[in-house]
This record gives sequence, structure tokens and C-alpha cells, in this order.
Amino acid sequence: MGPQTRLIRSGMRQPDDRNRPVNPPVERGTTLLMPRAAEMREETNGPVYGLSGLATHDALRTALAEMEGAHFMALAPSGLAAVTLAVLAVVEAGDEVLAVDCLYGPTRRFLTRFLGRMGVGVRWFGPRATPEQAFAEAGERVRLLLLESPGSHTFELQDVAAFSAAAKARSVMTLVDNSWAAGLLFRPLEHRADLSVQALTKYPGGASDVFMGSVAVADPALAARLQEAVDDLGVYVSPDDAYLILRGLRTLPMRLKAHGESARAVARFLESRPEVSRVLYPPLPSSPDHALWRRDFSGGSGLLGAVLRPASDKAVHALLDALELFGLGFSWGGFESLATFETSQLAQRRTPHGIEGPLIRLHVGLEDTPDLIADLAQALDRYPAG
Ligand SMILES: *Cc1c(COP(=O)(O)O)cnc(C)c1O
Repeated sequence: MGPQTRLIRSGMRQPDDRNRPVNPPVERGTTLLMPRAAEMREETNGPVYGLSGLATHDALRTALAEMEGAHFMALAPSGLAAVTLAVLAVVEAGDEVLAVDCLYGPTRRFLTRFLGRMGVGVRWFGPRATPEQAFAEAGERVRLLLLESPGSHTFELQDVAAFSAAAKARSVMTLVDNSWAAGLLFRPLEHRADLSVQALTKYPGGASDVFMGSVAVADPALAARLQEAVDDLGVYVSPDDAYLILRGLRTLPMRLKAHGESARAVARFLESRPEVSRVLYPPLPSSPDHALWRRDFSGGSGLLGAVLRPASDKAVHALLDALELFGLGFSWGGFESLATFETSQLAQRRTPHGIEGPLIRLHVGLEDTPDLIADLAQALDRYPAG
């Protein structure tokens, strides 16, 4: 069966359930009642407390595991919490994390601030480094390689298979933040990454109204370690939210296809404009990552960057303020188009970012593409062409 069929079928009701709704119920509960005292044992009788999740959580985990080709899934209350959970499941005091220098800002902050206090160090390598160059930066105690492909803000791809192989050869675990691809357009575990994390808040939710994240693993020993971290930290998500994410997953493939097709048209339009110096979107043939994208990804999502010709911040603000269909707001993955000014985020980089002008980010939503292009055209008309 194709990936879309599998996603539609997974975590659904059983064929012998009669006269029941299509979707699993929202099952709420803290206390689980057991018939006899002798059965109050998790080792022999499965979950004895609601904190480990009930039917709605199970259905969502099953569907996500199917999508990512995973043996085990953990759910976390946000995408950021999924990243921090995955990292905390792996590292110990005295370890080092080797991190690509295009990580999502709050992940970067967690590594430097919180993990620093826990006695875990971080080293950074440039998003265009080869695995050999990256590991040349690594210390003796590196335990975890942290990738994000494409990277936040600048959209560089990393060759996950090559990085994972180099990491394995050094007994280092590889974690990929796979939010851009929504767990569907790219499958890190197939490329031998150990952990694939995504912000379900984005495309799986799809409606800008739920926070959640997931961690996927293929190896049973690592799954046990991740479950320990979930138990030790008391990580839990609401079943109502799990229900909404599961509902979103059923339409994820077609929504992503529409976001991707529209984003490609918007990207080509931006490339044609004199105000735009460069468009950062791996599905574009002009992208330096296009060959890798073709090899590894089954499509593009709706998130892209544009480097503008040099001008004042005021000119960039005027451009963004002139947009009528693109809202000004953080996050992405919902049905609506969004725009942000990204340049200030680049200040955190430790390696040269190579961005030659003001950087904006667009999330291309599900509106009609010609309307979005017309909106961008009228806003760009007010920007100096350089
Ligand atoms: C948004 C995002 C996250 C965090 O997701 P939240 O649910 O907002 O915490 C993590 N990684 C990437 C790449 C993201 O874009």
C-alpha cells in the first residue's frame, strides 16, 4: 500500500468494531480502575495510570509510527518539548552535542542555556559542512549529532544518510528535526538517523490551533531509553489535542501537496523579481541543495525564505506591512499564509551565514496561488529594487 493509504488506515477502528464512529474516541482519564488488587501491576497488565496515555494517544502514536517507519513514538506537549525530550533521553553530564548551526532558535537556546547548566557542552558546525568537517569540530565526548534539514531561516539541507553513517562509525547518535517535511516528505529513520523529531504543531495540526511534538525511533533499546525519559519527566499531552492531530494527519498528504505546489509557484515568481536577490527553497532547481532534495524528499512544503536586495529595516517593514493575504506571525503549517522578518535571528549564528541582504520567510498557505502572487507583487512594488 502507498504511504497515503497507510496513513489513512492506521490507528483507525478495528474491522470488528460494530456501529462505532470512524475515529477513536477522545478517551480521558487519570485513574484506571482494575478489577483485582493482583492486577495493579504495569509489568503484567499494561497501563495502570492514565499518564501513559489511553486510546486516543495510542491511535495517534500508531499512525505517526506508520508515517515515520518507527518502532516507537513519544508524544510531547510542543515541538520544542519533543526536541528537548529526545536530547535529554540521550545525553549525560560531561557529554557534548555536535549541532548544525541552522537550528531552530529555541532549540539553540536549550542547548546553550539549559544543557550548559546540566554539564553538557555544545559545538557548532556550518550548515554546508561535510560530515568529516563537522566531526573535525567534535570533541572526545560527543554523544549526539543534532541536525535540522532544511535548517531554520536559511533552508540548507544536510545529507542525513552520510551524517548518520559518520556518526554511527563514532558511536554517536543522530537526531533530525524533521518539522519542514512533516514526517512525510522525508523519513530520517530510513536514512539511518536514530531519532526523528517534528513539531506536530505545524502541518500535522494544520489549523494553527494545537501544540504538540513527536519523537520517532526505530531501535528498541533507544525506545526504552526514550520511554524512561517520558516517565521520569512526566511528559503528557491532552487526549483532545491528540484527537485533533490525528484528524489533521488524515488530510496531511493532500494539504502538503497543495502547499508545496503553491510554494513552488511563489518561489519562481519571487526569483523573477528584481527586489529579490535569492530564494531559499530546496525544490527550486537553482537551489544548491536541489540534487539532494530530489534524492531524499518526495515533495516540498510551503515554507521558504527570500533574501532581498539590501535596504533599510524600514523598507522591509513597509513591504511586510503592505501584505494583505500574508499575516505577520510566527509558527507555520496552518492553512493561512504568513510572513516574518528573519534577519535578527541570524545574529545567533556561530559560523558565517552568507546571507547578503534582508531575509524574510514566507509560509505559503492554501489560498489561491494567483492571489498570493498578486499580493506579493503589490508589496514588492514598494520596495527599492537595489
Ligand atoms: C516550530 C518548530 C519547532 C517547535 O515547535 P513548537 O510546537 O512551536 O514548540 C521545532 N523545530 C522547528 C524546526 C520548528 O519550526
